[in-house]
Amino acid sequence: MTPAYQIIEHKYDMLVVGAGGAGLRATFGLAQKGLKTACITKVFPTRSHTVAAQGGISAALGNMGEDDWRFHFYDTIKGSDWLADQDAVEYMCREAIPAVIELEHQGVPFSRTEEGTIYQRPFGGMTTHYGKGTAQRTCAAADRTGHAILHTLYQQSLKHQAEFFIEYFALDLIMDADGACCGVLALDMAEGTLHLFRAHGTVLATGGYGRAYFSATSAHTCTGDGNGMALRAGLGLQDMEFVQFHPTGVYGAGMLITEGVRGEGGILRNSEGERFMERYAPNAKDLASRDVVSRSMTIEIREGRGVGEHKDHIHLDLTHLNPADIHEKLPGIAETAKIFANVDVEKQPIPVLPTVHYNMGGIPTNYHGEVVQLKNGDPDAVVPGLYAIGEAACVSVHGANRLGSNSLLDLVVFGRAVANRCAETISPDQQHRKLNGDACDAALANLDRLRHADGDTPTAVIRDRMQRAMQNDAAVFRTGESLAEGVRKVREINASFDDVRVTDRSMVWNSDLVETLELQNLLGQALATIVSAENRTESRGAHAREDYPERDDENWHKHSLCWVGEGGQTRIDYRPVHMYTLDDDVEVVPPKARVY
Ligand SMILES: Cc1cc2nc3c(=O)[nH]c(=O)nc-3n(C[C@H](O)[C@H](O)[C@H](O)COP(=O)(O)OP(=O)(O)OC[C@H]3O[C@@H](n4cnc5c(N)ncnc54)[C@H](O)[C@@H]3O)c2cc1C
Repeated sequence: MTPAYQIIEHKYDMLVVGAGGAGLRATFGLAQKGLKTACITKVFPTRSHTVAAQGGISAALGNMGEDDWRFHFYDTIKGSDWLADQDAVEYMCREAIPAVIELEHQGVPFSRTEEGTIYQRPFGGMTTHYGKGTAQRTCAAADRTGHAILHTLYQQSLKHQAEFFIEYFALDLIMDADGACCGVLALDMAEGTLHLFRAHGTVLATGGYGRAYFSATSAHTCTGDGNGMALRAGLGLQDMEFVQFHPTGVYGAGMLITEGVRGEGGILRNSEGERFMERYAPNAKDLASRDVVSRSMTIEIREGRGVGEHKDHIHLDLTHLNPADIHEKLPGIAETAKIFANVDVEKQPIPVLPTVHYNMGGIPTNYHGEVVQLKNGDPDAVVPGLYAIGEAACVSVHGANRLGSNSLLDLVVFGRAVANRCAETISPDQQHRKLNGDACDAALANLDRLRHADGDTPTAVIRDRMQRAMQNDAAVFRTGESLAEGVRKVREINASFDDVRVTDRSMVWNSDLVETLELQNLLGQALATIVSAENRTESRGAHAREDYPERDDENWHKHSLCWVGEGGQTRIDYRPVHMYTLDDDVEVVPPKARVY
């Protein structure tokens, strides 16, 4: 029997779940287009993880030397190890230029060149002339670019009178009998009340799931709730095996040291003081793409050239840089290094280690932000009423490996795209989809079960086991053996969730319950990640298998889709990579060897 809970119903044209960069760009875009829009968020908007983005946002503005969006297009596809959909990449790289200018006009306080144009720094994998030169393409507001963008987008959302429901936790998607999304059931964490938000379109902008791992640069709130909700709604997640390790997390603490540091001249050194990246990537050196640098660091450590007492990390050296430049361009980094590593960057190197940073995988969408699934042989079948953007989505513009500064770009470009699409396809006076009386039952039953969960294992214990298993067995380098072991462990840990214990039974500010709901979401994603990783018997981008060291285009040039059922049973299928562009302005880049 369904437990009796009172539900307060709201009706909007559009609902956005999440108020990070992606959610806010969509929210005010939708409101601006005249659609009545609500945005619900579990944290205060300006506390979303986007606020922590440091290095910048890419766009081929050419302010600091020659550039072209076609170079950006090429770099993104090469960076993705040819797994990105080329139509979507074309859309993003071309739209990047107006999108960044638009941000400037909306008020983002970018750093400036002498001439007064937006300052741009070099970032990994960003080149000119199809790999020949180094591009300065990453637009920066010192080393606090995400902060600047997020605050601006929030101000714009308020200006356009979008309605916010803050500290509301989205529990589940509410789908109708035909598989269309009708909205979301959410918990107001402060009041303990339940709310059904009905909308013609629901946009998931819930961010990544870095917290499936033990050491991550992302906030504790990055639990990929939207992805978890999608899995429970019976949707498959795409390319989950591709998890990006950022080369420079602070050793031990995991805090990020932006790639902008290497863009400004910082150098990685091993215990012999050697600039070892010259051996691995003779051209791009320290600015090769992230998967390449993370693997090189891991090899140095394995071969005994790590630094520190346990020879288990690497040094990032800034001591040769001009202190005035550090102060002006990287003030936050100097502070982070002092607080978390007790290092004065002008005098000592920063101890760093590859740390989980970004999820390339997520909810599959087309370049309009519409969620797609494989249905009756159609790999691009749109799920009516459901959209996904930002790190939660897999458009796919990042393929097997994202280039630094392409995520902030992805947020604003596809946040805007979804608003444009919905303005064309949804009208404010249309009827809401019909819902059966029992539409919320499954979501309520899940909430009620966890609220009263009376097992023997506390949430934190299960979470810790999951994070350690993922850290050990789905790491920078993977083998068939470690993945098989990882799959076994994560399946077992997932099953142990049946025995979870929640101690607080109340509805008001029940952080025990909320963390348990987040863990449930994380577990589904951890399973999808490790199962997809075991399944993919090749190396591509961030997925590096020691037992299959080569990329295998013949068998694996395709996106994986993974479904996770209620009992943790998994199913895998595939979607083809889009090897076409939107027009003749740019040519498809055929796969070739990826060297930097
Ligand atoms: C430290 C760090 C530095 C980075 N630096 C850069 C950079 O310089 N350049 C770059 O391009 N990329 C960078 N990235 C990556 C980039 O910042 C992120 O991928 C991006 O900000 C994600 O934005 P988002 O809008 O998708 O999600 P987030 O910003 O993570 O926002 C998620 C939102 O969803 C809401 N939410 C989640 N679950 C629920 C729920 N159940 N109910 C209600 N609301 C929910 C949250 O409240 C939040 O508002 C960095 C990432 C990190 C971690």
